[in-house]
Amino acid sequence: MEIVAVPAFSDNYLWLVHDEASGETAVVDPGDAAPVLAEADRRGWRITQVWNTHWHPDHTGGNIAIKEAAGARISGPAAENIAGRDIALKEGDEVRLGSHVGRVIEVPGHTSGHIALIFDDERVAFVGDTLFAMGCGRLFEGTPEQMYRSLQRLAALPEDTRLYCAHEYTLANAQFAAHADPENLAIADRLERTKRLRDEGVITVPTTVAQERETNPFVRATDVGEFARLRKAKDSFRS
Ligand code: ZN
Ligand code: FE
Repeated sequence: MEIVAVPAFSDNYLWLVHDEASGETAVVDPGDAAPVLAEADRRGWRITQVWNTHWHPDHTGGNIAIKEAAGARISGPAAENIAGRDIALKEGDEVRLGSHVGRVIEVPGHTSGHIALIFDDERVAFVGDTLFAMGCGRLFEGTPEQMYRSLQRLAALPEDTRLYCAHEYTLANAQFAAHADPENLAIADRLERTKRLRDEGVITVPTTVAQERETNPFVRATDVGEFARLRKAKDSFRS
C-alpha cells in the first residue's frame, strides 16, 4: 500500500492510497479535486474510491468532481451529511483496497459522526481531524468526554501504527505542548526538530502512536477534566 500526501489549501493533506496488485486507488478526505486528480494522473493511477472521515468542506469539497471525473465510489460516516456518499460507514464496517482491509471506528469529538480507518495489518490509520501530531481537533460538535475517549482509542493502537492526519499543524501544536508540559524533554526535543523541518518546508506527518504517547498532551491527559482544560487553553493559545 503506497500512500502519497497531496497538499491543498494552506495546511491540508489529502492522502492518495494506491494498491499496486489490484491497481486500485483511494483518496482520503479530498477537500479539493484538482490537485488530487493531477497527482493521480501524473502517477497513472485512476481513483476508484473516496473515503471521508467527516463532513467538513475542506475534507469533502472535491467529492463530486472526483466521482464525475474518475467514477469513484464515495464512502463516509453514516451519521453525517457527506456530499455524494454511496456507502455509509459505521463502527465495525470495513473499507477495502485490493486485499487491504480498513476497519471503521467512530471517533466523535471534532464532529459528532467523525470516523477513522484502521488498517491493522499495514499499521496505518487515517484519523482526519481527530488526532494531529502533538494535538487534536477542535470540539465543534462533540463533547470533551467523546474526544478524550476517541483519542484514547487511537493511542491504544500498536505503537508502530502510523497516524495520517489531515493537517500540517505540528509546529503550532508543539509550541502549545511545550507551554503545557514544560518539563517534558521529548516534547522540547520534538519542538526543535519540528522547527527545523518546517523551516525547510518538510512535511511532519504521518506521526506514530509511540510519538503521540510521548509528546501529545491531549493523549497524555490522565482524565477528561485535564483534557478539557488543555483543549480550552489551546483554543486561546498564541505562541
Ligand atoms: Zn474538520
Ligand atoms: Fe480539516
